[in-house]
Amino acid sequence: MAFFSELGGKLDVLREQGLYKPERVIASRQGSEVTCDDGRQLINLCANNYLGLSGDEATVQASIAATEKYGYGLSSVRFICGTQTVHKQLEKAISAFLGMEDCILYAAAFDANGGVFEPLFDEQDAIISDALNHASIIDGIRLCKAARYRYANNDMADLELQLQAAADKRHRIIVTDGVFSMDGTIAKLNEICDLADKYDALVMIDECHASGFMGATGRGTHEHHNVMGRIDIITGTLGKALGGAMGGFTAARKEVIDTLRQKSRPYLFSNTLAPSIAGASLSVLERLSSSTELRDRLHANTAFFRKEIAELGFTIKPGTHPVVPVMLFDAPVAQKFAARMYELGVLVTGFFYPVVPMGQARVRVQLSAAHTTEQLQTALAAFAQAGRELGLIK
Ligand SMILES: *Cc1c(COP(=O)(O)O)cnc(C)c1O
Repeated sequence: MAFFSELGGKLDVLREQGLYKPERVIASRQGSEVTCDDGRQLINLCANNYLGLSGDEATVQASIAATEKYGYGLSSVRFICGTQTVHKQLEKAISAFLGMEDCILYAAAFDANGGVFEPLFDEQDAIISDALNHASIIDGIRLCKAARYRYANNDMADLELQLQAAADKRHRIIVTDGVFSMDGTIAKLNEICDLADKYDALVMIDECHASGFMGATGRGTHEHHNVMGRIDIITGTLGKALGGAMGGFTAARKEVIDTLRQKSRPYLFSNTLAPSIAGASLSVLERLSSSTELRDRLHANTAFFRKEIAELGFTIKPGTHPVVPVMLFDAPVAQKFAARMYELGVLVTGFFYPVVPMGQARVRVQLSAAHTTEQLQTALAAFAQAGRELGLIK
């Protein structure tokens, strides 16, 4: 059939353009070191495993304990017969951790973002969205009838212009990633909240790359910028720092969460989060609430790596976030570099157009609390070797 050969042709074009994304197969737990299916052991610098909990033994045991107690799954959406005590406890714990009134769980943050706008806003309202917001926010906004406004990434002058353009709308909401994952850029939430006050707008942040480790006690970007209590809606994931399995949430005032429970389609028409994940996430939040040790180790590793990689002569995007973009600018160079790093025992991924702007190719390093100083030194030695071989540093 023509349909299938056309698809095959389009896939060939992707391969020719170097845009086809192969999948590495890992044969071990996720961690600061992984074993691939070809038997190679690699230091892993590209997981969202910020706090090192994905393969962490205590987290694994908490998920097993929850499975023993609550079973494997619910075979139900929440409102029919899919709500267990562990789900209510987790919603309470997330609300308390983030400093919000209430919380609703989803199967993924993609679903949280996909289901947050349509029940709350209609054609009389305005959604004002950062140009670099995550794909799930873009899709969620598409599903909603509200008027759409877009401002340049983290550009407060442009945001103010868009707020003025939306002044005649009934309600306005500013939407931003708390941290932008390609650059490690932290949204200017203090300025965003000031503009929201000035123009009578709500503020929503997506905390997928922040919950668990940004701010003095890891509550997120709102703690980092000292605006806890000024954010109206927070979406986030359980699939990155907070354990790494899967699952998402939206936290907000009671009226918002109650409305989502009644009307949010990914919540109403999709299965309950598995009890193993709910139980393990609960144990993670208890651990993070009782100690900042993991968060502190992550930031120490980040500061160490950022300093050392710059001293080697690489160009990095400045900042403090554990996402460290090591700029190589040229797409084929980024691919060659990542391939050589693999041979040298370090897992990093090259990113290039269209994922990042043309001429901005890079390898994106992500630090973890689980990295030992020795692992980071080994990785840095590989960076030095690959960098010299490719003539990128002296
Ligand atoms: C990863 C990510 C998501 C999606 O999270 P899942 O729980 O994996 O669906 C949404 N928003 C942002 C900003 C992300 O980085």
